[in-house]
Amino acid sequence: MKIARANHRGVEKFGIIEETYFHTITDPFINDFIEKTKEIIKLDEVELLPPAKPSKIVAVGLNYKSHAEEMKIPLPDEPIIFLKPSTAVIGHGDYIILPKHYRRVDYECELAVVIGKKAKNVREDDSNRYILGYTCFNDVTERYNQKKDGQWTRAKSYDTFAPMGPWIETECNPKSLNIFTILNGEVVQEGNTCDLIFSIEKLVSFISGIMTLLPGDVIATGTPAGIGPLKDGDKVEIKIENIGILTNFVKKS
Ligand code: MG
Repeated sequence: MKIARANHRGVEKFGIIEETYFHTITDPFINDFIEKTKEIIKLDEVELLPPAKPSKIVAVGLNYKSHAEEMKIPLPDEPIIFLKPSTAVIGHGDYIILPKHYRRVDYECELAVVIGKKAKNVREDDSNRYILGYTCFNDVTERYNQKKDGQWTRAKSYDTFAPMGPWIETECNPKSLNIFTILNGEVVQEGNTCDLIFSIEKLVSFISGIMTLLPGDVIATGTPAGIGPLKDGDKVEIKIENIGILTNFVKKS
């Protein structure tokens, strides 16, 4: 099931995407169940929004061996996590804005976990109950700031640096999904979630042991090797097998 959030004639709605239709549903982050309403809208009559409104995005710094190697950082023995602010979120079709005086802004394709219900101190073997589904995420990063500052908040937090979408897939198996960045039509980054150092169950358990995860919160699970720069005028797509393609465009501020 593909759960999307959309703007329809100025009203924000949740819906399930069924071929070329948007079938409106009750808010999946308020109720434990999903109930269809009678309203069915043509998909081309809605504007897709980011599929969740996270209170926070918890991102994992190094979760693929290949990316740790390219960054020349030793493999971590626990997940390295950082936060991206909710104000950085943009949706499918939106613009990534290059900050003034930027040096190098990179794409990072990531599988994102969308939390469905409040989670605190969750056991690994119980973590699936708290996950609504999965979406595509681009952990856009100012690489120069990241290296200069040593800690990552500035580099990861510029407005528009958290593209996600286009929808939440509730039925895919996240353990083995091919993941790609496609830049101007060409595959530039490629991996498979079977190479994750820390599993999704481990991440939900570890993070919920530190901070309460709220419905709509997002865990970005890390990027494989192959990061690279974005420039003004680029079209960047994050494609994940069995989920979909998140498309964004890049422009100067
Ligand atoms: Mg990342």
